[in-house]
Amino acid sequence: MEIPSSHAGVVKAMTVKLGDKVTKGSVLLQVEAQVDAAIPAAAATAAHTTAAPEAKAAVPAAVAARAPAVAVDAPSDTDCDLLVLGGGPGGYSAAFRAADLGLKVIVVERYATIGGVCLNVGCIPSKALLHVAAVMDEVKHFDALGISFGAPEVDLNKLRTHKENVIGKLTGGLAAMAKMRKVEIVRGVGNFVGSHQLEVAETEGSAQALTGVKRTLSFKRAIVAAGSQAMRLPFMPEDPRVVDSTGALALKSVPKRMLILGGGIIGLEMGTVYSTLGARLDVVEMMDGLMQGADRDLVKVWQKMNADRFDNIMLKTKTVAARATAEGIEVTFEGEGAPAPQTYDLVLQAVGRSPNGKKIGADAAGIAVTDRGFIDVDIQMRTNVGHIFAIGDIVGQPMLAHKAVHEAHVAAEVIAGELQGNAELASAAFNARVIPSVAYTDPEVAWVGLTEDQAKAQGIKVKKGLFPWTASGRAIANGRDEGVTKLLFDDSPEAHGHGKILGGGMVGTHAGDMIGEVALAIEMGADAVDIGKTIHPHPTLGESIGMAAEVAHGSCTDLPPTRRK
Ligand SMILES: Cc1cc2nc3c(=O)[nH]c(=O)nc-3n(C[C@H](O)[C@H](O)[C@H](O)COP(=O)(O)OP(=O)(O)OC[C@H]3O[C@@H](n4cnc5c(N)ncnc54)[C@H](O)[C@@H]3O)c2cc1C
Repeated sequence: MEIPSSHAGVVKAMTVKLGDKVTKGSVLLQVEAQVDAAIPAAAATAAHTTAAPEAKAAVPAAVAARAPAVAVDAPSDTDCDLLVLGGGPGGYSAAFRAADLGLKVIVVERYATIGGVCLNVGCIPSKALLHVAAVMDEVKHFDALGISFGAPEVDLNKLRTHKENVIGKLTGGLAAMAKMRKVEIVRGVGNFVGSHQLEVAETEGSAQALTGVKRTLSFKRAIVAAGSQAMRLPFMPEDPRVVDSTGALALKSVPKRMLILGGGIIGLEMGTVYSTLGARLDVVEMMDGLMQGADRDLVKVWQKMNADRFDNIMLKTKTVAARATAEGIEVTFEGEGAPAPQTYDLVLQAVGRSPNGKKIGADAAGIAVTDRGFIDVDIQMRTNVGHIFAIGDIVGQPMLAHKAVHEAHVAAEVIAGELQGNAELASAAFNARVIPSVAYTDPEVAWVGLTEDQAKAQGIKVKKGLFPWTASGRAIANGRDEGVTKLLFDDSPEAHGHGKILGGGMVGTHAGDMIGEVALAIEMGADAVDIGKTIHPHPTLGESIGMAAEVAHGSCTDLPPTRRK
């Protein structure tokens, strides 16, 4: 039987010799542990933009070369190697990866289930409802194809149960996987009380009711994955008819008139669900367009397809006051598109999310938190405190689950590498070039990397390959040919006509399922020939990516010929 060393370092003395009898716990040898002196005191800034890759430098040589061991100031008898604060996509992914790498891990989560916002009140329940809405909308058009269904009868209780079952399946699966990995889940609200200690106020029930019991957990390393929460406008009345995304997902009833405050992805996704179920929508947005971040030509296609959901799209308009009346919530607007005050049966506040950095006792551990509540980290996800890392929504935009998961793996690997003296793991870094964004509306809008609007604004010369889905056999067969796939390639003189792909976007059904290919192409530094000559199966919507590349290359035969100059 081989007994692996628990520490990296130099063997100073052997306390047993060949043939000696030992019992469990006997000291076999003495090791002078390597000291992890080079942990940077102050981390560089986090990237608060979607262009994470450009904003973050490559792994510094000093980091890559380091072969760290146990942190100098770590107490020797901690409750765990790694404590993870928060059990969302960031937290559980970090915990699972670290456990798989051999660490003893504790996750502290205030709610009854792990999965965080994404699984409980975010990505997953919203998609469960959006799927139902998409099918309901789809069959409306079947009349024209000779297939008629009656008007839908909506049983909200059943629909809610379906959504809860979806959540339950996933969060139950996570709990089982935590058990398999021997990751301990401690239920309660965590607050740092020292650089190596977290106090947990035990909670119970379906929310965060405190039991009054407290315990303190000690750790060698910690990862802060405490996420974010929905922002509220200060003048909004406390009234059940004013909800955030969590309240909207509760789906208590379907209002006649609904106002969406904020024309971003979350508001428009929830609006899609409610309008399909029968609500009329108004949306108010301070900026000059909905779904900021995506190219306007793509958003235009979505907006045309969805025009009949809205009574009013108020752009460059602010909500300045609101009051609860017997008839509903009366809202006052100001700005270019402002109408007279309007009364709504339901108001959804979707004006952004704020990080939870100021609610975890960060000071006691010495963790620096910005005025807005973010925690700055370097490319290894390390905070200004060398043995504490942070990941997910709490470290900055984009607040997306897939970003949190990738950051989680980096932090877990660095920590395992440092504690086990594995230089390769210890040099892990978050160096993804791009992070895709998707609005799971109908049609979906998805984009990744440089957008055409950004290229224009930044004076970056790009060659565009645009493939309209009116030429896609599959889109036509599906009766959904409104989509467009667009790829952007470097067209700078240095690219000599063979520029790499810099970005791409799509609008159309299942765009979100396809944008990953464009992200991969960017990561691999593909050019138009690489993508165009990759054989995509026919007939699929994914073909439109290959064809958009062919358009940029000039070899597409699925569109009318371009005129020779
Ligand atoms: C309606 C909606 C739809 C969304 N849809 C998508 C989508 O389609 N795709 C996508 O990528 N992203 C989506 N998001 C965003 C996504 O949910 C977040 O980016 C993701 O959950 C962030 O993960 P996280 O681990 O950083 O934080 P969170 O998921 O917020 O998890 C943090 C966890 O920490 C716990 N916690 C916080 N403080 C403490 C404390 N002091 N003690 C103990 N526990 C604590 C919280 O209870 C929570 O469980 C959506 C969000 C919303 C609101």
